[in-house]
Amino acid sequence: MGGLRVHSVLVTGANRGIGLGFVQHLLGLPNPPEWVFAACRDPKGKQAQELQNLASKHPNLVIVPLEVTELASIKAAAASVGERLKDSGLNLLINNAGIGNNSSLDNVTQEDLAQKYATNTIGPLLLSQAFLPLLKKAAQGSPGSGLSCSKAAIINMSSYAGSIQDVYVWEYGEAISYRCSKAALNMLTKCQSLGYREHGILCAAFHPGWVITDMGGTIENKTRVTVDVSVRGMLKVMSSLSEKDTGTFVDWEGKVLPW
Ligand code: NDP
Repeated sequence: MGGLRVHSVLVTGANRGIGLGFVQHLLGLPNPPEWVFAACRDPKGKQAQELQNLASKHPNLVIVPLEVTELASIKAAAASVGERLKDSGLNLLINNAGIGNNSSLDNVTQEDLAQKYATNTIGPLLLSQAFLPLLKKAAQGSPGSGLSCSKAAIINMSSYAGSIQDVYVWEYGEAISYRCSKAALNMLTKCQSLGYREHGILCAAFHPGWVITDMGGTIENKTRVTVDVSVRGMLKVMSSLSEKDTGTFVDWEGKVLPW
C-alpha cells in the first residue's frame, strides 16, 4: 500500500461504507495525500459525523458538498477543489457513490432505472467531465510517461453484479436496475480509458467484493468482506496499476473480472 503516493484524491459517497473506509485508509497511509477531498451530500448532517470527527483531526481532509445527480453541485465541487489545489491538479478521482436495490424483471420501473442510472452511471460520467481539467493538470505535472493512479486516474466503483458474462450472485437477487447501471458504468470506464489515455489518465472499474455495508445488506455469506479488507486491498491494487491496466475491470484482490 505504501506504493500509492498521491498528492490529492477525491472520494464520492465518503460519509459512510466503502467511501468512508477509503478516507480513513488514505489518511492512515505512510505517505498520506496532501489533500483528501471527501465528498458527501450533507457535510453538516448526522450521517457525516464520522467525517466531521476526522476533519477535526486531519487538516489535509476537506469535506466537499456533492450530490452526484445534480450538475450544478458537481460543477461547484470541481470549482472548490480547484481553488484549494491552486496550481496543482487532482491525481485520483474515486467515483464511489452508488445506490442499489433488488428490483426484479417483473417489478422494475422507469423511475427506478432512471434513478440508478443517474447515480451509478451518469454521476461518474459528469464528475469525470468536470474534474478532467484538474486530472489533466495532475498528469502534466507528474514526471514519467506511463499511466498510474499516483499520476492521474479515474476509478469507477462498479460491481461484479454488472458483469454480463458472469451475472454474479443472480441467485441472491435479480437487481435489474442496479446490474444494468453498473454494466453501463463498465462500458463508460472502457470508453474513458480509450479517450483519456492520451491525456495521461488511467481509468479502471473496480469490484470491491461483497462488502459489509448498508448496501451490502445482511445476508450471511462466507465470501463477504469487511470495509477494512476491501479498501486495503483496493488501495494495494491501485498502487500496482500501470499503463497496461488502463481500461481494466478488477476486484479488491487484483483479479481481472470478465465484463
Ligand atoms: P453504502 O450504501 O454504504 O454508501 C453509499 C454512499 O453513496 C453513501 O455515502 C451515500 O450517501 C452515497 N450516495 C448515494 N447516492 C448519492 C448521491 N446521489 N449523491 C452523493 N452521494 C450519494 O454503499 P457501499 O459503501 O456499500 O458502496 C459503495 C460503492 O461500492 C457503490 O458504488 C456500490 O455500488 C459499490 N459496491 C458495493 C458492494 C457491497 O457489497 N457493498 C458490492 C459491489 C459494489 P448518503 O449517506 O447521503 O446516502
